Amino acid sequence: MHELGIVKHVIKTVADIAAENGISRVSRVTLAVGEVSGVIPDQMLDCWDWFRQKTELVKDCALELDTLPAVTLCTACGREYGTVRYGRVCPFCASPETYLLRGNECVIKEIEGE
Ligand SMILES: [Zn+2]
Repeated sequence: MHELGIVKHVIKTVADIAAENGISRVSRVTLAVGEVSGVIPDQMLDCWDWFRQKTELVKDCALELDTLPAVTLCTACGREYGTVRYGRVCPFCASPETYLLRGNECVIKEIEGE
C-alpha cells in the first residue's frame, strides 16, 4: 500500500529529526500533501493510527495533512496554471508542452514535540 510506505518513511524521518534536536516525544506532525500525489488522506490517517502505536516516540502524535495545490508550468507561454482544473494542456495557449511544477510531493512540513 502506497500510504503505508509513506507513513513508515515519515516516522523514520521524524525519528531522525527528533534525535538531532533532542526531542523525546513528538505531539504533532504536519505533512504537506500535493493535490496530485495520489495520497488518500483517510487511508493515510488509518495507517498512521495503526503504525504510530508501534513506535514510542510518536505514540500520542497527531498527524495533520495540508493540501498543497498542484501547479503546472507551460513552456510555450511561460504561464502557470492549476493542474487539477486544466490538466496537461495549457488553458492560455493550448500548448501541450507543460510540466508539473509542484503538487506531486508528500513532505514533512512541521514537527512539534518536547
Ligand atoms: Zn501556454
